Amino acid sequence: MNRNTRPPESSDGARRVNNSADYARRRAAYARAQEQKAEAARQRAREKERRRENRRRAGRVFLGRLLVGVLIFLVLAAVAAVAFWIHFQHTSAPQEPVSVRYSFCGTDGGTLEEASAYRGGVLCLDFARLAAALRMTNVGDGEEMRFVVRPDASGGTTDSAGTGRDEDVVFRDGSDVAEVNGQAVRLAVPALFGEDSCLIPAAFVTRYMCGVTLTQKGNTVTVERTDADTLFLLQRADALSPIPEGDYSGLGGETGQTDPPTPVTDPPAEPDPPSPPEEPSVPTPTFTADLSAYEQYMDPADRDGYLILVNNSSTIDASYLPTDLTDVADTRKDGRNTQKMRLTAEKALEAMYIEMRVCGITDVSVTSAYRSYEYQTTLFNMYTQNEMAANPSLTLAQAQAITATYSARPGTSEHQTGLCCDMHNLPSADQRFAQTEAYRWLSENAWKFGFILRFPENKESVTGISFEPWHYRYVGRYHAYAIHEAGLCLEEYLAQLGR
Ligand SMILES: [Zn+2]
Repeated sequence: MNRNTRPPESSDGARRVNNSADYARRRAAYARAQEQKAEAARQRAREKERRRENRRRAGRVFLGRLLVGVLIFLVLAAVAAVAFWIHFQHTSAPQEPVSVRYSFCGTDGGTLEEASAYRGGVLCLDFARLAAALRMTNVGDGEEMRFVVRPDASGGTTDSAGTGRDEDVVFRDGSDVAEVNGQAVRLAVPALFGEDSCLIPAAFVTRYMCGVTLTQKGNTVTVERTDADTLFLLQRADALSPIPEGDYSGLGGETGQTDPPTPVTDPPAEPDPPSPPEEPSVPTPTFTADLSAYEQYMDPADRDGYLILVNNSSTIDASYLPTDLTDVADTRKDGRNTQKMRLTAEKALEAMYIEMRVCGITDVSVTSAYRSYEYQTTLFNMYTQNEMAANPSLTLAQAQAITATYSARPGTSEHQTGLCCDMHNLPSADQRFAQTEAYRWLSENAWKFGFILRFPENKESVTGISFEPWHYRYVGRYHAYAIHEAGLCLEEYLAQLGR
C-alpha cells in the first residue's frame, strides 16, 4: 500500500472513535453472551441439584415406607403368633369336654363336669364310686377315706384266691400322698373329697392296681375288672406268702424292707430236662420267606438253655454279663445306640423281621434290648431321686417303692439277660401298640420264632408288671409254643415245669 491510499486524517480519527464504540458494543455483547452462558450453566447445575434432591427425597420416602411396612409386618406376625398360641392352648386341652361319663365294671359310674374331671389337665375319677363297683368297703372318716377289700364269704368276687388278705387304699382330702396296702404313693394331683366322692387321678388305677383296666374313648372313661384275685400292685409284706408266683416282695413292704431277695446266680441251663406231664409236639411252622438258615436259632439244640426267670423275686446277679451279645439288626434308626441281644435270640429275631416284612409289616423296630446292671441302677436311682425331689416327705424306701412300680429295680430287669427286646412302631412304648396290625401279627406268630409276649394282659397279678405289648422274650420255639398254646406267662409255665 502507498501513502496516497491512506484515508484522510480526520476520517481516520472518526474511524478510531467508531472502532472503539464498536469494540465496546462487541465487548458488551460478549459479556452478555458469557453471562447468559454462565446463567445457563447455573441453571443446569440447579436443575441437576434439584433432580438429585428429588432422588434423595424419593429414597427417604421409600425407606420410610419400607420401615413402616416392616413394622406393620412385625406387629401382624406378633398378633398372629399370640392368636395361634391361644388357639393351640385351647385345642391341646383335653378336647374341652362338657362332662365326662364313667362306667365302672359294667355299672354307671356317673358323670363329672369338666372342672372336676380334669384338674390341672389330669383326668380324675371318683374312687368312691369305683370302689363300690369293685365291692370295696369305705371305712374312712371325713378327713380320710379308707377303702378295704374284704374276703367275700359267699365265695364271690373280692377274694376268689382265698388269700384272706385285707387289701386297702387310703386317700386323704387335699393330700397328694395315698397309701396302697400301707405303702405311700404319690398322686399327680391331690385327692379331693366331696360329700360322698373321692376324686383322684385316673392314672392311679393304671399305675397301682392290677386286674383292672382303664380306657378312655372321647368323654367316656371305662374301668373293667379283668382279674378277680389281686387288686393292688403294692402288697403288704405280711401278705406275701399267699400270693402266687412272681410276688411283689421286691417292692418293699410296710416293714420298710427294701433289699431284693438273695440273687440267684447265673442263668439257666440246669442239665436236668423239664418234666412236663406230656411232651407237646410242636407243629412245624411254615413261613413265606425262606428261613431255613435261621432254623437252628428259632429252635435251638439247647432247648432249655434260655428259660432264665428274672423278676422281682428271682433276681439276676449284678455280675451276670452275657458273653455272646450281638448287634440287633433291626434297632430303630433314630440315632440311638445299636441295641444288643444274645446271638441265638438276635438271629431268631432277624428271622422274625424277615417274615414280618414279607407279610407287609415294615414299621416295627427294636427300641431297647440288653441293658446292663449298671445302666438299670443309674436309671432306678435317677427315678428315685426325682420322686424324692417331687415329694420331700417320702423316705428313701417309699420313694424306691414308687419307682419300682414303673422301673425295675436293679437285678430284677429281664433286659439284663440279653434275651428280650422292646419293639413297636410308636414314638415310645405305649399300650396302644396292642391296637396295631403289627401286634396282632406278633401275637399269632412270635412263638414260631421262639418268642413270647412276656407281660401279657390279665397276668399282672402274676408277673407284677402291667401289660407290655411291646416286650418280647426269647425262650426258643419249643417252650414258646407251649406257653402260647396254654395261654400262660413265663412264671406260670416254669411253675408248671416245677422250676
Ligand atoms: Zn422291656
